[in-house]
Amino acid sequence: MTARRIDGKAAALALRQRVAAGVAEFQSRTGRPPGLATVLVGEDPASAVYVRSKGKATTEAGMAGFAHDLSASTSEAELLDLVARLNADDRVDGILVQLPLPAQIDSARVIAALDPAKDVDGFHPINVGRLSAGLDALVPCTPLGCLHLLKAELGSLAGLDAVVVGRSNIVGKPMAALLIAESATVTIAHSKSRDLPGIVRRADILVAAVGRPEMVRGDWIKPGATVIDVGINRVPAEGGKSRLVGDVAFDEAAAVAGAITPVPGGVGPMTIAMLMRNTLVAAHRRAGLPDPETF
Ligand code: NAP
Repeated sequence: MTARRIDGKAAALALRQRVAAGVAEFQSRTGRPPGLATVLVGEDPASAVYVRSKGKATTEAGMAGFAHDLSASTSEAELLDLVARLNADDRVDGILVQLPLPAQIDSARVIAALDPAKDVDGFHPINVGRLSAGLDALVPCTPLGCLHLLKAELGSLAGLDAVVVGRSNIVGKPMAALLIAESATVTIAHSKSRDLPGIVRRADILVAAVGRPEMVRGDWIKPGATVIDVGINRVPAEGGKSRLVGDVAFDEAAAVAGAITPVPGGVGPMTIAMLMRNTLVAAHRRAGLPDPETF
């Protein structure tokens, strides 16, 4: 391996410590902690694990957590009613509705019902529009975490060629918007792109957010490139076990890249740290205070 291994765990820990300090300061200025409400509908095991770890991080940061666990048969009207109550609750600065929602609920309608000022996932059309217009917005946590790692590694991104593989609303598109705002030259590739290896070979910065285990091979990587692997894929391992791999073939890519995030331990830990950061930022904005210095 020649590439530097980008330690997302350490970066996330440092960010969470800065957020915790910001929380204490916010509480001393306003007399209350920032609050994050989580909404889980149904019993999807992966979603339950995510929501529990978000709740744990909330408490560890010194924020108030409000957990709402609803049954899988919850109607859209019931969920919209809860969202309206959370929008009106002054103790709540951030609302996280865990996706995916059960089939009877239209997630776009639920997201549109969130108060954009409390939309700490950054999925509300107002926040999506503000991000693409270059205005202050609440930005989706995973791409914001990727940007944090990239800036820590490279400093200025201005003029660099960036390729984002994947165009989801959660990762690919907001990642591209953030990179444009940093003055990178951005290409977005997806399943219909022709000559994906050729496109990726141009990248000084590669962000892979595809969901296909080890799809990006070492000989696609430009020597010295910075590689951010968002993918989390579970694949069979020896002894009937399973293991997590990214969208990039790590060992091959690490022999060519300048720096690379591992999976696990790269982008993953940054996502929850950024959720805490977004909640602290939302609390400041709602209280009419300037943004905290957390990044
Ligand atoms: P998604 O909504 O399924 O989007 C995947 C994207 O990859 C789509 O734009 C798709 O293109 C593109 N794609 C699929 N096959 C391709 C191919 N053969 N060549 C080129 N592009 C291809 O996924 P997502 O939500 O963005 O997540 C992507 C990955 O990141 C998943 O592994 C997910 O688990 C992981 N993830 C991790 C975190 C974290 O915290 N680390 C957070 C979110 C997601 P089309 O649009 O043309 O279909």
